[in-house]
Amino acid sequence: MIIFKNAGQISAFTNSRKNEKQIGFVPTMGALHEGHLSLVRTAKEYNDLVACSIFVNPTQFNSAEDFKHYPVTIEKDIELLIGAGCDLLFLPPADEIYPTGYTARTYDLGKVETLFEGRYRPGHFQGVCQVVDRLLEIIEPHRIYFGQKDYQQCMVIVRLLQLLHKEMECELVVEPTVREENGLAMSSRNLRLSQEDREKAATIFQVLQYMQDNLGNEPIKTLQNKASQMLREKGFEVDYTAIADATTLDPPTGYSERLVGLVAATISGVRLIDNMFLN
Ligand code: AMP
Repeated sequence: MIIFKNAGQISAFTNSRKNEKQIGFVPTMGALHEGHLSLVRTAKEYNDLVACSIFVNPTQFNSAEDFKHYPVTIEKDIELLIGAGCDLLFLPPADEIYPTGYTARTYDLGKVETLFEGRYRPGHFQGVCQVVDRLLEIIEPHRIYFGQKDYQQCMVIVRLLQLLHKEMECELVVEPTVREENGLAMSSRNLRLSQEDREKAATIFQVLQYMQDNLGNEPIKTLQNKASQMLREKGFEVDYTAIADATTLDPPTGYSERLVGLVAATISGVRLIDNMFLN
């Protein structure tokens, strides 16, 4: 695996090969786990070259504390990426992504920016778009890989590719959420949880399953409320437990459309999100 810290160098490398080689790209913030590695492995299957980036993007954090405590495990990440068959790692310092003179544009993301994560993390999706825009510009991949774990982020990336007129040159591939044995969605933030909290955190998966199992048997409002209550009983502070139209994130108008359950809740100061298709 070749490690690049310089944007110009990795850009020259991928640019000189992109006509002969299909390039798959997996952007991450590091502290890698099986969820990230599943993206790398899938990218490896469908591309000639796989690039991964590790960059804890300051502009997508709306809390300085969260940014400060974001886990960093670079040495281990490098080993895991080599094991998963990654070819190129981009490990930039912040000024390679946001060099002097960089001016952030504002991305017109529409309603998706104001709902759920957008509402609780103002500015978060603009920050995500800034970094992904820059990374796409640098790497110029044929395919970019994201996890369903961050469902709303995937919707934002669809929109970003349209705004950049890149939806024809770069395919977005969304991979299923990888979970711990107890159902807890793998997340770099889980490193900040005690063993006891990890057990409790599996309740997020359980409430999503509860919504899935009971969809149609109880009113949607009741399901949402019960889900919140189940989390609070375990000590969570709940931002939302919602059932939404999977395409628009609007409240459901019936059961014929595809529905997604969405949860964001905090335990011991660690905010976790998860989602599940319900029908
Ligand atoms: P992050 O490092 O958290 O920014 O995540 C990098 C990518 O990995 C994003 O596309 C995430 O959606 C994806 N990802 C994170 N956790 C998981 C998981 N448990 N299963 C699948 N993909 C994941």
